[in-house]
Amino acid sequence: MRTQVAIIGSGPSGLLLGQLLTEAGIDNVILDRVGKDYILGRVRAGVLEEGTVSLMDKAKSSARLHAEGLPHDGFSLAFDGRDHRIDLHGLTGGKRVVIYGQTEMTRDLMAHREQSGALTIYDAANVQPHDFDGAAPYLIYEKDGISHRIDCDFIAGCDGFHGVSRKSVPEKSIRSFEKVYPFGWLGVLAEVAPVNHELVYANHPRGFALCSMRSMTRSRYYIQCPLDEKVEDWSDDRFWDELRLRLPAHHAEALVMAPSFEKSIAPLRSFVAEPMRFGRLFLVGDAAHIVPPTGAKGLNLAASDVHYLFSGLGEHYQNHSSAGLEAYSSRALARVWKAVRFSWWMTTMMHRFPDTSDFDQKIQEAELDYLTHSHAASTALAENYVGLPF
Ligand SMILES: Cc1cc2nc3c(=O)[nH]c(=O)nc-3n(C[C@H](O)[C@H](O)[C@H](O)COP(=O)(O)OP(=O)(O)OC[C@H]3O[C@@H](n4cnc5c(N)ncnc54)[C@H](O)[C@@H]3O)c2cc1C
Repeated sequence: MRTQVAIIGSGPSGLLLGQLLTEAGIDNVILDRVGKDYILGRVRAGVLEEGTVSLMDKAKSSARLHAEGLPHDGFSLAFDGRDHRIDLHGLTGGKRVVIYGQTEMTRDLMAHREQSGALTIYDAANVQPHDFDGAAPYLIYEKDGISHRIDCDFIAGCDGFHGVSRKSVPEKSIRSFEKVYPFGWLGVLAEVAPVNHELVYANHPRGFALCSMRSMTRSRYYIQCPLDEKVEDWSDDRFWDELRLRLPAHHAEALVMAPSFEKSIAPLRSFVAEPMRFGRLFLVGDAAHIVPPTGAKGLNLAASDVHYLFSGLGEHYQNHSSAGLEAYSSRALARVWKAVRFSWWMTTMMHRFPDTSDFDQKIQEAELDYLTHSHAASTALAENYVGLPF
């Protein structure tokens, strides 16, 4: 088989890139090692920047997002028993974010891909990119025990942090930067109305908590937990009790509790691999970088990478120019590092670290006080939260 762009990974970055390419008449094939139902069973991000929504528009996959997504003009920082609203809309001259689950975005992109007839190969085992440092790259994979080959012009490695693309690059050609945080997030999904119409990020002596949502009837709540905790140790009752303790009284009293239907613990890490291009192989999204979810940036960074790569591929096929592809890594990384900084900063400001000294604690409190009382500081937070331009 031959295609123009072979895409490894059918997560948001692979699907979005695939759909943009298909709309632009550029042939592409997506391979994923797991099946469609497994991918749609993963519960992950839920806060979309306007830039991500625009890319969904461009991919002609945004009808349901616009009908069902919840535009949010602000969020709350809760500490000292009180809420402090960050007016995203007012502070950024009219920008907002949209609440729409990554699972739903993935479902919409998959449905549109099926309608457009573009090929996705699910359950593709042992995918391996080859010869991407030359002019004729190709992929091999196995399906139902039979080995296949796809020749292509370019390979997009959209296969997440544990994928094969980054691992295929010789160690001497790639540099990694990593910070692992000494806690995780225990998250639950429950079919109840959210405690607040906007997100609440809470800094509390017992640890961080986040009240988020997927819709007006489905809530997503998180609490900071030690890394050695197990999901089985957390009954629903224990989770709800702990969440209530970390929220200001008016939220704790308003919290509606119900049995959770998803519960998981995610470790927190910042990671960047440089560069993001190796000849004809391009790393995109989580394959190249990971951020802690505190700033809601992971999915949105995947989208901005897709934007830069799609622009470069468009220039290559339409204008016979390689300038955009050559600039891909530096353009993407410039934005990635700013989001990595923002996510690290929000994580540091909102969580309790096991080794926090009295001095560190006072600095954290001063930072929250400054942030919520200084127009300049609130504006910088809002500007980053709604997403830097790309
Ligand atoms: C538990 C969790 C919670 C998160 N919460 C948030 C959040 O609240 N806010 C936020 O912004 N971000 C969040 N993120 C991050 C966000 O989900 C990711 O940034 C986003 O999924 C990145 O998309 P991607 O397409 O680059 O990678 P992925 O979504 O990881 O998709 C990669 C795809 O590649 C496939 N694949 C992997 N290896 C191979 C292989 N060898 N061969 C073929 N296919 C392969 C995988 O099956 C997968 O379908 C969260 C992530 C996790 C794990």
